[in-house]
Amino acid sequence: MSKTLCQTCGDVEVRKFLSLGQQPSFHFPANREEAENERLWPLELGFCEQCSLVQVLESVSERILFSGDYHHLAGLTAGYHEHLQGLADTLAGLFDSTDGRSVVEFGSNDGSLLDKLAARSFDVLGVDPVGQVTAAGSQVVKDYFSSTVGAELAATRGKTDLVVALNVFAHVTNLHDVLDGVTSLLKDDGLFVTESHYLVDLLETLQYDFAYHEHSRYYSVTALDEAFRRHGLETVKIERIPTHGGSIRVYAGFAGAHEVDQSVIELRELEDSLKLRDSMIYTRFAERVEQHREKLNELVRFLKNSGARVAAASAPGRAVTMLNYCGLGPDDIDVVSEISPRKIGKLFPGTHIPIISQQELAGDNQPEYALLMSWHIADEVITNLRNEGFRGTLIEPLPEPRILER
Ligand SMILES: [Zn+2]
Repeated sequence: MSKTLCQTCGDVEVRKFLSLGQQPSFHFPANREEAENERLWPLELGFCEQCSLVQVLESVSERILFSGDYHHLAGLTAGYHEHLQGLADTLAGLFDSTDGRSVVEFGSNDGSLLDKLAARSFDVLGVDPVGQVTAAGSQVVKDYFSSTVGAELAATRGKTDLVVALNVFAHVTNLHDVLDGVTSLLKDDGLFVTESHYLVDLLETLQYDFAYHEHSRYYSVTALDEAFRRHGLETVKIERIPTHGGSIRVYAGFAGAHEVDQSVIELRELEDSLKLRDSMIYTRFAERVEQHREKLNELVRFLKNSGARVAAASAPGRAVTMLNYCGLGPDDIDVVSEISPRKIGKLFPGTHIPIISQQELAGDNQPEYALLMSWHIADEVITNLRNEGFRGTLIEPLPEPRILER
């Protein structure tokens, strides 16, 4: 395979530390024939010794993934809406008054945050390839955010107080082009606010399942600092937040424009102490991932041998990575349950386990066990399953396979 360069540093080769085998894309085959023609890609992770960015070595063009049957919009949970309410309040709290203050959000998805910001008197604009009008009528430019789009918006609408991007840094094709767009759009004293899955949390809680093709990069503060530095930006404040099993909300501004908060210094110190630029932590992670595959297989095999049926509850992207990496197919997992009508009745990517509705899972013929594939929001999922009437025993697959007593 050709060598992969760090997407932040550009000229530094990424060192491979983990192979997650052959993986499908996040597309649900409608029938056997489609399943047989499914394409697989090797999924491998590497890290950069200069900036500690962790990234997928082979990535699929985002345009392929965004086209057709893309399920991103289906996924906003109640917990995430609450999270966005909190973020909207926090952003409003940055100003004495939000009147006349402007926000551009790229990767604005269904516009949930835009509408919440508009309700707090911000002047809002979204940029998203889906480009739909939001529920409350906030305007969205149908495009991928780029240096061109940023410069055009600055010229036609003026510069903005805030640029916001949630969970898009992981999968933008050209990070530096996007950051060029941010710097041309941001006012001199403006703030760029991003949320990204945090590498330290990912390593600590063994979240290899979050590596899927749409999400090809995993950031530390060290890596973000390096990316920002190249564009005259600096990190000024960081909050650790629970999204996705551990994320960071990072505020950046033009270098010298804002006072740097203690939170930035603390997380840089934490990362230095973990030695995120040395291979040791990644080698250890890869060993733990392999052990996890063995443990999960042992547990499922034990349950199946005892005559029980085992389901997997929900089919987010991370479930695709885990079940395919662990080699768990229809002989191991009887069914996968879902609430999205776009997945029900189809086959699970790669392993081709039939997908049934959550109602059916909780119906007359219930399996005895269910693996919680959205384990990072376990409380919300467990409440849903119990409310639906599912009485089986629940298993949390990560960080350790664990049978729950609730
Ligand atoms: Zn790098």
